Amino acid sequence: MDYQQIIEDIYKSIQPHAKEGKQATYIPELAKVDPDQFGMCIHTIYGETAAIEKADTRFSIQSISKVFSLAMCLSLKGDELWKRIGKEPSGTAFNSLVQLEIERGIPRNPFLNSGAIVMADILLSELTNPEEEFLSFVRAVSGNDSIEYNREVAASERENGYLNAAIVNLLKYNNNIENNIESVLQFYFLMCSIEMSCRELSQAFLAFANHRRKFDYAGITLTASQVKRINAIMQTCGFYDEAGEFSYLVGLPGKSGVGGGIVAIYPLLYSVAVWSPRLNAKGNSVMGLKALELFTSETKESIF
Ligand code: GLN
Repeated sequence: MDYQQIIEDIYKSIQPHAKEGKQATYIPELAKVDPDQFGMCIHTIYGETAAIEKADTRFSIQSISKVFSLAMCLSLKGDELWKRIGKEPSGTAFNSLVQLEIERGIPRNPFLNSGAIVMADILLSELTNPEEEFLSFVRAVSGNDSIEYNREVAASERENGYLNAAIVNLLKYNNNIENNIESVLQFYFLMCSIEMSCRELSQAFLAFANHRRKFDYAGITLTASQVKRINAIMQTCGFYDEAGEFSYLVGLPGKSGVGGGIVAIYPLLYSVAVWSPRLNAKGNSVMGLKALELFTSETKESIF
């Protein structure tokens, strides 16, 4: 398969959509990013790779970090985790409060903000140095020691994070937060602020694509079944209220973030990351969705 040629052709054919949508502005630091950028990179488990455009430009991974938090929480807590968070798709926006109130502070799934805020609380309770240990894990799984948090993005989100503050309060009221709510929020925003490029993300997610390889990074270990279950949750919950649409159009487990990144995997074959900051109304990258839809159509490599 000539992945390089395929992604170059895809990039040309999605140009009519280049100005659709706009970047996230509710995090002021993200509003400063040039919206007209695009990168894409694929790695196969056999060592093939292809990349185009800004595949090496780092961006804010935002909610893609929730996959790394889930890997850590499952490794540390095992199935105990499911006492505090569900694993059903929500059909609601990533920052919705409605369901959380009705379901008495048990987030529907770990990829909603509420679920990831509970995971931030778990990591604060379980780890001795949560900030260092989370970063060490992400660096180890990516095989790249230069990955960093962007503390300006985290601070900018904290200053304007009224909705996430409401979520953490509702969780605490329902006894689903152990630590001080300010520390939990700050750690949640910090995890979201990690910056990685498409090449780095695609490399990191090979660990999820290849569940037959031992998952053991910076002391975080998962069994093959746990890795497959993380992929199952990516399939059903990775795109909030657009999870069905992503499944329909692309047909892969994946995860998006409001920085405009999307990463998706084809189990036992490849991992692909795409980035373009302009988002649709559901908070997913317009060009990213188009590129992945064409990618699985052209290669005929999707799980369906
Ligand atoms: N940090 C962002 C928030 O809490 C993450 C949202 C996202 O990427 N979907 O709103």
